[in-house]
Amino acid sequence: MKFIKYLLISLVLLGGLSFGLFQITGVQDFLTKRAVQQQMQQQESIFPEDDALSAIVCGSRSPFPDRDRAEACILIKAGADFYVVDIGAGSAMNLQMWQIDLSKLKGVLLTHLHSDHMSDLPGLHFNSWLAGRPSKLKVYGPEGVENLTQGFEQAYSLDTKFRVEHHGEGILPLSVAGYEPITLNPDNPIIDKGDLKITFFKVNHEPIEPALGFRFDYKGRSIVISGDTLYSENLVKNSMGVDVLFHDAISLDTVHAIRDVAYEQGNKTLTKILDDIQTYHENTIRVAELANEVDAGYLIYYHLIPAPRTDLAETVFTRGINDVRSENWTLSKDGTIVILPVGTDEIILNSLDF
Ligand SMILES: [Zn+2]
Ligand SMILES: [Zn+2]
Repeated sequence: MKFIKYLLISLVLLGGLSFGLFQITGVQDFLTKRAVQQQMQQQESIFPEDDALSAIVCGSRSPFPDRDRAEACILIKAGADFYVVDIGAGSAMNLQMWQIDLSKLKGVLLTHLHSDHMSDLPGLHFNSWLAGRPSKLKVYGPEGVENLTQGFEQAYSLDTKFRVEHHGEGILPLSVAGYEPITLNPDNPIIDKGDLKITFFKVNHEPIEPALGFRFDYKGRSIVISGDTLYSENLVKNSMGVDVLFHDAISLDTVHAIRDVAYEQGNKTLTKILDDIQTYHENTIRVAELANEVDAGYLIYYHLIPAPRTDLAETVFTRGINDVRSENWTLSKDGTIVILPVGTDEIILNSLDF
């Protein structure tokens, strides 16, 4: 009894002491510095040192809002080089939080010019500029990409001027501020980067014309990114035998439920949008069938419509997939990583907590 009494008194005293220590500014500063040091070490462990083709989902959601997810974004790492496929809202911050070395960013590839695929381009531009990107930011995309980058440059012209004046050309050189837009020419569908070949192809996101998918081939390993699409013959043709297929997907059961509630509440705008989007994206089951058809090593769903926020929502979203493809698939979240080591058949799936 006495022992318990002393134990309680000790715990109270210890708690009081810790609380007291936290009030001392020197202790606060010490702990703050230590926390920052720990955060700044994170980057090291994301990718293996061995040569590989890798990808991180830097944005897994569609325009349906979700605090824990950014809009469409996949970072590709081929050897030492980085490419970003789409850069929707919130994704530039993810890349910043994970301390991706953006001085090695070789380009941004846009599947199409919907805002949920490009609205964070200025954020990525600034972060890579600050990281030491050695030239203007290359932005590959369908027709309209030049208009897009010129518009962003114009809108951010004062911001650029203020930052150069404030921090100096040594930190933010004006010569590499801005973009180098590259309109993708369908007659020449391969972007040749030595060991890395990037192929682009039209997908079916009508009436958006054109909307593109991308295939990355690096030293015998491969990744396909669908962009936004219905079932696409072109995608099938370009995905044959791919190691990893990232595909967008709509959960029709979930969207029907939201649409019915919107209709019952008399929300005509939302009802119309939810009717429209059903012919814009492929459903989860057909995507699984497509992954089987192309014999994909692994299927990763992204651009989830809508991204599930609860266990119930996830159960409804994934309903029936296992009947078609019992393994080798997953729903991504922000931070899902896949690593394909060169010279092996391995597909290593991981997840980054942040
Ligand atoms: Zn779209
Ligand atoms: Zn989209």
